[in-house]
Amino acid sequence: MSGVYISFPFCSQKCTYCNFASGVLPKTLEGQYVEALRAEIVRHNWRWTPDTVYLGGGTPSQMDPGTLDSILSLIPWRPWKEATIEAAPGSIDAVKAAAWARSGLNRVSLGVQSFAPRELARTGRRHTAETVAADVQWLREAGFEHINIDLIAGLPCQTRDSWNESLDWVEKLAPDHVSVYMLEVDEDSRLGRELLAGGGRYSAAEVPSDDLIVEFYEEACERLERLGIHRYEISNFARRGAESLHNLKYWKLEPYIGFGADAHSFDGNMRGQNVETALQYVEAMRDRESAVAETVLADLFSERFFVGLRMSEGIRPAEDEWKRFEEPIQRFLAEGLLEKNGDLLRLTRQGVLLSNEVFAEFVA
Ligand code: SF4
Repeated sequence: MSGVYISFPFCSQKCTYCNFASGVLPKTLEGQYVEALRAEIVRHNWRWTPDTVYLGGGTPSQMDPGTLDSILSLIPWRPWKEATIEAAPGSIDAVKAAAWARSGLNRVSLGVQSFAPRELARTGRRHTAETVAADVQWLREAGFEHINIDLIAGLPCQTRDSWNESLDWVEKLAPDHVSVYMLEVDEDSRLGRELLAGGGRYSAAEVPSDDLIVEFYEEACERLERLGIHRYEISNFARRGAESLHNLKYWKLEPYIGFGADAHSFDGNMRGQNVETALQYVEAMRDRESAVAETVLADLFSERFFVGLRMSEGIRPAEDEWKRFEEPIQRFLAEGLLEKNGDLLRLTRQGVLLSNEVFAEFVA
C-alpha cells in the first residue's frame, strides 16, 4: 500500500526559522492553487488505493474545512489507515475538529515548536501554551486519539529551563507522538541566513550553542522515554503502535505520491519533484497540466543506508550492499558510530548525534 502527500504552502505568518517553500501569499492565489491541486489529483491514474494520507505545508489547517473535504474526496477509499493534517496552534476549534474527523482525518500534527513565550515571540509564532492545550482538548473531544507535537531544539533564547518548560507541557498534554527537530541553519530561512552571516537580527545571537542543543535533544530523549514515548527515528518519538505510518514509508523506501507545490513522489524506482512555489505550481498546471519539475532514478543502494539508518530499528543490508559500503561501515563500526548485531546494522547513540557525518559517506 502506498501513501499520498498533499502540500498546502499557505501560512498566516512566515516564521524566522522556516526553510520551507511556504509563506503569506495572496488569497486569490490560494483559490487558484486549490483548483490546480484538485486538477492534479483528478488527473492521476488511480489504479490503486492509498492507506495513508498526509496534508503538510505550510499550514493546511487554515484551509476552509469544506474546501479540504472537496480535496480529500478526490482520493479513493476512506477511512484510510492513517490520515494526518499538520496544524498551526490556534487554527483549530470544535467545529473544525469535528469536520476534519468527518472528512476521514484521524491524526493531527501540531507545529508547536516551543511552549515558551520568549522563544515564540522571537520566531514569529503567535500561540501560547494555553492555545495548544485548548487545541488538544478540541481534538480529543472530536475523537482524535493520534496527536503529534513538534518541538525545535535550538530556537533563539532557548535555555535549559525553557526547554524543560516545553517538555513539561508535552508531559501534561500527553500526545502519543512527539517530533524533536534540531534547528536547521541554511540559506533558506531568515534566521539561518543571519546565523551564517554572523549577524544579530532575528535574535540570532541568542541561539544556543551546538553543545547545548545536543544536550536539549538528549534531555528530550530521556524524558520522553520515561513517559513511554520511544525514539523510533532520529527526530521522531511515539508510544508503541503510534508511530507515523506515513512517515515510515519515507524511511522504508515505500512508494508515495505527492500533490501540490514542492511535493515529492517515489514509485519504488523513480523520484519526482514538483515545481517549488505556489505560483509556479498554478502556472505549470495551467500551461502544461503537470507540475513535475524533474524525475530521477533513485539510487536505492545508497538510500537504504542514508534514509534507512534514520530508523532506530536499523537496516538489514543485502550482501552486495555490505560489499559496496564495506570501507565506511567498518570505519564507523570501529569509531563507535554504527553497531552490528548479526546482519542488523544501526546507528549508536553517538552515531545519532553525528548522523549527518555518517550519512554523507553513503550518498552516491
Ligand atoms: S514554520 Fe510552519 S507556520 Fe511557520 S512559516 Fe514555516 S510552514 Fe508556515
